[in-house]
Amino acid sequence: MADFKNYIDGKWVEAKSGATYERRNPATGELIGTYAKSGPEDVAAAVEAAKAAFDRWRKLPAPKRGEILFRVGQLLIERKEQLAREMTEEMGKVLTEARGDVQEAIDMTFYMAGEGRRLWGQTTPSELPHKWNMTQRRPIGVVGLITPWNFPIAIPAWKIMPALICGNTVVFKPASYTARSAVRLVQIFEEAGLPPGVLNLVLGTGETVGTALVQHPDVALISFTGSNEVGQQVAVECARLGKRVSLEMGGKNAIIVMDDANLRLALDGIVWSAFGTSGQRCTAASRVIVHEAVFRELADQLDARVSRLKLGNGLDPTTDVGPVVSESQLERVHRYVQIGVAEGAQILTGGQIARDGELARGHFHQPTIFVDVRPEMRIAQEEIFGPVTALIRVRSLEEAIAVCNGVRYGLSASIFTRDIDKAFRAIEDVHTGIFYVNAGTIGAEIHLPFGGTKATGNGHREAGQAALDVFSEWQSIFIDYSGRLQRAQIDVEQLTADD
Ligand code: NAD
Repeated sequence: MADFKNYIDGKWVEAKSGATYERRNPATGELIGTYAKSGPEDVAAAVEAAKAAFDRWRKLPAPKRGEILFRVGQLLIERKEQLAREMTEEMGKVLTEARGDVQEAIDMTFYMAGEGRRLWGQTTPSELPHKWNMTQRRPIGVVGLITPWNFPIAIPAWKIMPALICGNTVVFKPASYTARSAVRLVQIFEEAGLPPGVLNLVLGTGETVGTALVQHPDVALISFTGSNEVGQQVAVECARLGKRVSLEMGGKNAIIVMDDANLRLALDGIVWSAFGTSGQRCTAASRVIVHEAVFRELADQLDARVSRLKLGNGLDPTTDVGPVVSESQLERVHRYVQIGVAEGAQILTGGQIARDGELARGHFHQPTIFVDVRPEMRIAQEEIFGPVTALIRVRSLEEAIAVCNGVRYGLSASIFTRDIDKAFRAIEDVHTGIFYVNAGTIGAEIHLPFGGTKATGNGHREAGQAALDVFSEWQSIFIDYSGRLQRAQIDVEQLTADD
């Protein structure tokens, strides 16, 4: 029996095969519970339920769909502390960050609930007399949502809320590491009175459940957030099957520090952006591009700050940096540290797997800073997704921007400078979906579009009004009340002559 089950057609059910898997706390190794390990047959049942629920849900007036979301938002507020604590146990981020994760979901829920009373279309003049033109947003159908483990409540909320407010029904496949958080979120929808079949949850591996969801012929859209490796496969499958797909993938985010920067502010921004969530944020600053005039001072101060960061269980309020999510992630992070050393970069701070005392029970890596990094090195090009950052020395703003842009990803970047001209030059020339001035690469707000350029995505954005464009399609409506058959595309002379 699984402790955490699938939610299909309004019922909590085991995987049809009865299979389960376990998840352990990455800080302590303690068992969190057993989870349904589903197969394609469970995905098929969930899609069937979502299909059956679609017509009623899309016809429920959007303000009424919004009312259910408002109730969800209220319950998220009431459960915030419990959700945050369970999230820390399940994937390791420190409690203050887990609270922020839930808060992001709360903000998104209220924002999208309010959209139930807007969902604006356009009205336009017609080419013809006695004719009315307008557009309305229509839902797409059954949508498949595939999410990563690094934001266990926020990222599902970024997708579920706009999908539902637009009138779609959902099959949600969360990352297997953070399936309890997904169960908690779906329980809140159940409590808020969401009709059966509108939101379905299927737990299990990406290879099995994710693939079955992507390949199911009745799933019209896949919204995916995760790695480039998997996202590419999803994109190929969706292209083959002719379905819509929205992709949010990896990053290699950079903070530029100019010679005129407020260094104290820059230090705060770098420490938070590079080591928050143990570097496992898609917007984590894994490159710091520093003007040579302040390089030594910044490196020394960063070393002093970062070597004092305390590793530990994220539930302990004195902990600065929690574990990484899994043993395999720990190995991957450490492999990159070894790659950096082999490439000739120097370790300024950290560099080791942390095994002292209690830390030996979990998956901890010392916060690590590299210096003597050349922009073309693998540690400066590839996403590491752990508490590792690389300091790169440059001589000018032009060089900083070139280095910043010289990677395949384009999610976020930032500049620390007191010179407004430099800030605007960077805004103009840095090719990322998100840009910050005098702030770290962390801290997006849910009413603005979120997503990246180049290999980070496929041009879609999450959050804000842009999310509605992913989860709806336009219907153009022409209403002729002239009482005669009028033909469009006639020239102005004819029209004036007719009158
Ligand atoms: P991942 O690609 O391993 O998994 C993401 C999801 O895809 C999981 O639910 C997984 O089970 C599923 N999956 C795995 N194989 C699949 C397949 N063959 N078909 C369908 N689904 C499959 O990523 P992860 O390790 O969970 O998350 C980390 C990655 O996510 C990083 O690359 C990070 O940059 C990225 N990320 C990006 C954003 C963004 O907005 N750009 C936000 C958060 C995380």
